[in-house]
Amino acid sequence: MKKHNFSAGPSILPREVIEETAKGVLDFNGSGLSVLEVSHRGKDFQAVIDEAEALFKEILNIPEGYSVLFLGGGASTQFCMVPYNFLEKKAAYLNTGVWSKKAIKEAKGFGEVVEVASSADATFSYIPKDFVIPSDVDYFHFTSNNTIYGTEIRKDFDSPVPVISDMSSDIFSRPIDVSKYMCIYGGAQKNLAPAGVTFVIVKNDAVGKVSRYIPTMLNYQTHIDGGSMFNTPPVLPIYSAMLTLRWIKAQGGVVEMQRRAVERAELLYGEIDRNRLFRGTVTCDEDRSYMNICFVMKDEYKELEADFMKFATERGMVGIKGHRSVGGFRASCYNAMPLESVRALVECMQEFEKAH
Ligand SMILES: *Cc1c(COP(=O)(O)O)cnc(C)c1O
Repeated sequence: MKKHNFSAGPSILPREVIEETAKGVLDFNGSGLSVLEVSHRGKDFQAVIDEAEALFKEILNIPEGYSVLFLGGGASTQFCMVPYNFLEKKAAYLNTGVWSKKAIKEAKGFGEVVEVASSADATFSYIPKDFVIPSDVDYFHFTSNNTIYGTEIRKDFDSPVPVISDMSSDIFSRPIDVSKYMCIYGGAQKNLAPAGVTFVIVKNDAVGKVSRYIPTMLNYQTHIDGGSMFNTPPVLPIYSAMLTLRWIKAQGGVVEMQRRAVERAELLYGEIDRNRLFRGTVTCDEDRSYMNICFVMKDEYKELEADFMKFATERGMVGIKGHRSVGGFRASCYNAMPLESVRALVECMQEFEKAH
């Protein structure tokens, strides 16, 4: 049976990327060696990381003066690297869920944190709108897509202070104006590559301004200077990331990724709103994530939840169980998600509705 992979992360990658990665594992560039067993400083691998970086800059239209880094440690390590490198006294954070809260917790270890707004009062089911970014802070941090709660901020803030964003789960899903950011980071395992590599886009002249000592491995300058090769980088995920970036470019870039995301989201949210049995947990249209689409059974049908899960699983749906803090269902629809899989899920919801 065909599987439709709606997993939240690690998650679906383009089939071509998986096949090309597998080929590279067996024979890298016709060298007779695996990409797993060659030096990261050899010219063949250098070409991979160079191409990955160049494609990153091209596809996101990154201006001069920024570096793209490929690091280990996950987005979670960035929660502390960001304040280590940029927080001198005070920083502002928008609290839109679990990942924001984790970032806030780490920042508090380095200085004062102003929480500009929070949607904790309604289980993070909306994006706070009426807040002011203070002008006396070192930076403003937000999570662009809340993977767990299914909310998304699809705009680049005009801010009186430098902006930093965790874009783990919506990078490359739409055009962004990188010039409005000091730093953008994320784990690659949602929309770009297998788990193991973390991307960081950082403005070069913003680094080196804080007065504290920063441990070598946690200092962005180390990795800017070393071209992400200060130590051994995660070579296989970087190789796959390069292949995904080639794929994104060949498909038509982030404009096309956005068009597909909108098409998938309109189809699925349309069904969630229409179907008698279900409701979306995020109701404000502009806050609804295109990447992680969360829905539950309506209260009067609550007892059907396990039945629908079984019904959907029998029809090939994978990874649609909602995060434990939200319950219900979550269909993650990252870049590589074909429209046919979303159609299959919608048909499944319609059949289930008919049967009840
Ligand atoms: C998954 C996720 C993280 C955590 O990433 P790790 O690479 O596992 O540390 C952080 N932020 C967001 C928005 C995520 O979706």
